[in-house]
Amino acid sequence: MYDLIVVGGGPAGLAAASAAWEKGVKKILILERDRELGGILNQCIHNGFGVKTFGEALSGPEYADRFERMVAESGIEVKTDTMVLDIDENRNVSAVNPVDGYVTYKAKAVILAMGCRERTRGAISIPGTRPAGIFSAGTAQRYMNIDGFMVGKRVVILGSGDIGLIMARRMTLEGAKVLACVEVMPVSSGLRANIARCLDDFGIPLLLSHTVTDIRGNKRITGVTVQEVDSRMVPIPGTEQYFDCDTLLLSVGLVPENELTKKAGIGLDPRTRGAYVFENRETENEGVFACGNVLHVHDLVDYVSEEARFAGEAVADYIENGERPKESFLLTTSGGVTYTVPQRIRKDSGMKLVNIYLRINRKVKKGDIVISADDMEIARYHKENLAPGEMITVALPSVLMQKVSGSDMMDVSLEEVP
Ligand SMILES: Cc1cc2nc3c(=O)[nH]c(=O)nc-3n(C[C@H](O)[C@H](O)[C@H](O)COP(=O)(O)OP(=O)(O)OC[C@H]3O[C@@H](n4cnc5c(N)ncnc54)[C@H](O)[C@@H]3O)c2cc1C
Repeated sequence: MYDLIVVGGGPAGLAAASAAWEKGVKKILILERDRELGGILNQCIHNGFGVKTFGEALSGPEYADRFERMVAESGIEVKTDTMVLDIDENRNVSAVNPVDGYVTYKAKAVILAMGCRERTRGAISIPGTRPAGIFSAGTAQRYMNIDGFMVGKRVVILGSGDIGLIMARRMTLEGAKVLACVEVMPVSSGLRANIARCLDDFGIPLLLSHTVTDIRGNKRITGVTVQEVDSRMVPIPGTEQYFDCDTLLLSVGLVPENELTKKAGIGLDPRTRGAYVFENRETENEGVFACGNVLHVHDLVDYVSEEARFAGEAVADYIENGERPKESFLLTTSGGVTYTVPQRIRKDSGMKLVNIYLRINRKVKKGDIVISADDMEIARYHKENLAPGEMITVALPSVLMQKVSGSDMMDVSLEEVP
């Protein structure tokens, strides 16, 4: 019997396991399906990771290495090449690997840290032929940074998520010509810093409110048609531009990897596509916690590590003291707030401050995040330069929640300030 089993050995799993270890949880097992720990960071060789966590800009592998060392120097057990197949309501975790075969491990607590995957061409239904040369940006990143293959010479990128932006720069530095980054929305979902450093610095145009409407080519892609879209995202006739290219990279969003979570019968929030969680990242199933990109897609790995360490510490508390009473506030959203994590805050959380992560649906120069209940304002946080691509955090003092007597709900909304 393990105290804790962590599913996934990426940055979230590693940080959660080491935080639980530091808090005294002793029998910990990390199960990772890949041959090595580190998750997606192994292929992110650019730098910029860890400014918040370590006060220095590291590459992805360097950042992951810091956490891998913490795990290696502890007594945490690790099994790589091990795919978790199932988790039941009693926290029996079934997995398979070439050495042990099919095994079921029992744990007092489980942390889900399976990360996220990229949306594919099928998810966005682009018409046209099916030639070679169309890659998700992450697949191209893996081919180039791990396997050493150049994936193309004349490139169009569909979607302005961060991975696409980073690949625009990476491919340019390797000698490719990136013709354009095409984004269907009127704003980019990528970080502003990445637009400046990965597109603007290299003169790569960002075409907002545009999309790819046709793909040409038989064996290999030979070009794409790009069109402007109207406010309902319908292509506008007469705006067609043809790009002669041999590669199309898709950077059209990330989806939390929640097949195991679903199989375990854990409720998923359709807005985040991750589990519904309490303030301590415990899901609706007792003793099963979730953190990192499997819970909601974070914009920086530093926030993943912060959340994962917090979840690891919460597991230590759970193992020592048992589950806290489930009586809680449900967080609703309005005024352009698209989701919050957590979705529930226990009335007796034992915490002085509860961090609420949230996202909004539009760019706002100046705005207030307002938390209210019982038709009463509980807290207001002034923020500036808000954008959908950037996660917002507010810290709600528990003492303010004690003012709420007649309701089990709190609303989180955005108010624009002139
Ligand atoms: C292609 C790509 C590029 C990215 N680039 C950046 C970037 O440049 N900067 C940045 O800040 N963020 C980037 N991200 C976001 C990045 O995913 C996070 O910052 C961070 O890696 C999330 O950590 P995680 O541990 O939650 O997920 P991951 O790093 O994805 O780790 C999850 C781990 O769980 C394992 N796993 C999944 N299912 C199972 C299972 N059933 N059994 C066992 N193991 C399992 C996976 O193999 C993986 O190792 C990128 C994401 C992707 C998909």
